[in-house]
Amino acid sequence: MFEFQVQATDGAARAGVLSLPHGEVRTPVFMPVGTQATVKTLTPEEVEGLGAQIILGNTYHLYLRPGHDVVRTMGGLHAFQGWSRPILTDSGGFQVFSLSDISTIGEDGVEFQSHIDGSRHLFTPERVMEIERALGADIIMAFDQCPPGQSSREKATEAYERTLRWLARCRVAFDRIAAEDGDGPLQTLFPIVQGGIHPELRVASARGTLASGDWHGIAIGGLSVGEPKPLMHEMLDTLRPELPDRLPRYLMGVGYPDDLLEAIGRGVDMFDCVAPTRNGRNGAVWITAEGQVNIKQRRFLTDAGPLDPECGCYTCTRYTRAYLRHLFVAGEGLSMRLLSIHNLHFLVNLANQARDHIIAGDYAGWSRAWLDRFAAGKAAAVAARG
Ligand SMILES: [Zn+2]
Repeated sequence: MFEFQVQATDGAARAGVLSLPHGEVRTPVFMPVGTQATVKTLTPEEVEGLGAQIILGNTYHLYLRPGHDVVRTMGGLHAFQGWSRPILTDSGGFQVFSLSDISTIGEDGVEFQSHIDGSRHLFTPERVMEIERALGADIIMAFDQCPPGQSSREKATEAYERTLRWLARCRVAFDRIAAEDGDGPLQTLFPIVQGGIHPELRVASARGTLASGDWHGIAIGGLSVGEPKPLMHEMLDTLRPELPDRLPRYLMGVGYPDDLLEAIGRGVDMFDCVAPTRNGRNGAVWITAEGQVNIKQRRFLTDAGPLDPECGCYTCTRYTRAYLRHLFVAGEGLSMRLLSIHNLHFLVNLANQARDHIIAGDYAGWSRAWLDRFAAGKAAAVAARG
């Protein structure tokens, strides 16, 4: 269990299989985000239908509502939300800083006020391990301190060093809780590498993380938080020689289609991002030949074509652009569902296509052509609007 087998490599890109208690995950993989124990507006059958192999749950949100004890009483996240495939839960480290009203960080943990009712809470590494145990995901993330994008060397050093100290506490708590709860779910703990946009801090964070335990996977946090894209690529290039081949690499909170392909080419295996569903609810959709466009544009008024002629998703095989535009402009709930299905399928399928091309040995050429076309389409769409 939790073994990761690399089946093919092409340059730095890898195609692998990760064995988890609720099933195997073929990588590279895009993981839809189900913040509140639901991938927004979709049923589990629809999420399975668009090809998702594994989804995320958010510890911060589920702790506040309905409460992790409620989820445990209901049999854990899988039973609670009717999803039988693997789940990964984040640690809430990102949300306590970005969502809660007031957070005070100390060596013990982070004190924060709920964004729902203002109540006060404390997340410590030990507490987060208890919560993630109760939620019962296959993969649980260590509690980390994610500094703001482009933090100074001083701030980024403080954050990665604290993250390492917290990781040691997470490990002890994880092992203790798992031993006490012998019949509970099989889980593995993924550590998170921090270090901001400073290459030497990234290396120090990775080395400290790898020296602190025997892991089944490793995550890269604190990227795609506002820094320029070339810096994200540089950090991935810096980290690659530090990370052992046998561990799946998870780039947290990434990404957009172009980010996905760039990172896969730099050896990343796992991704998640709220963009497909959030953009879908806002009417922004990805079209292979056009980049990202908004469905409410007037040019779609009587467009009888599918949203993306190259997409095989439920939305693209059943509905016209004109109808999707109408639903969105009229504020119909179905529009959010159909656009989310398309956007999620787009990314899930893009990761699958990347996998096929890695196995075929032509990833570099294929991804470069795909990225060039996507960028040109995006530029043309902007020019047409302007
Ligand atoms: Zn589609």
